[in-house]
Amino acid sequence: MAGRKCLALIAHDQKKDEMAEFARRNEETLRTHWTIFATGTTGGRVLDAAPALDVTRLKSGPLGGDQQIGALIATGEVDALIFFVDPLTPMPHDVDVKALMRLAIVYDIPMALNEATADRLIANLHA
Ligand code: PGA
Repeated sequence: MAGRKCLALIAHDQKKDEMAEFARRNEETLRTHWTIFATGTTGGRVLDAAPALDVTRLKSGPLGGDQQIGALIATGEVDALIFFVDPLTPMPHDVDVKALMRLAIVYDIPMALNEATADRLIANLHA
C-alpha cells in the first residue's frame, strides 16, 4: 500500500515484554500505516501480541539480525527505529547497540529507545 512507512523493531532481554505491549497497544496504528522488520525473537513476540501486523522476521540479533536492520537503514529502507536496550543487564549486546545507533545517527533515522518515545514517534510519523 502506497504511503506505508517501514519500522524496525529490536528489544533486548527483559525489554521484549515491553515491546510486545507496545505492539499490542498500538496495533491499529501499526497495522494501518507501518510495515515492520524485526529481529527474530522480537518479531515473534510482536506477532504473538498483535497478529494483524505486517512483520518480517530477520535473524536473531546475536546471529546478525541487528546488522540486517543496519543494512536496511543504510539502503534507505527504514523510516524509524525502535530499539529497546535493557539497561539492567550486563552489556553483551554493547557492540550491536553502538553499531546500530551509529547508523541511525548517520542516516538521521528517528529512533526511540524507550516506550514513551516510541508511542510518540509512531503517532507523529504515520500521518
Ligand atoms: P532477538 O534479537 O529479537 O532475536 O532476541 C535481538 C537481540 O537480542 O539482539
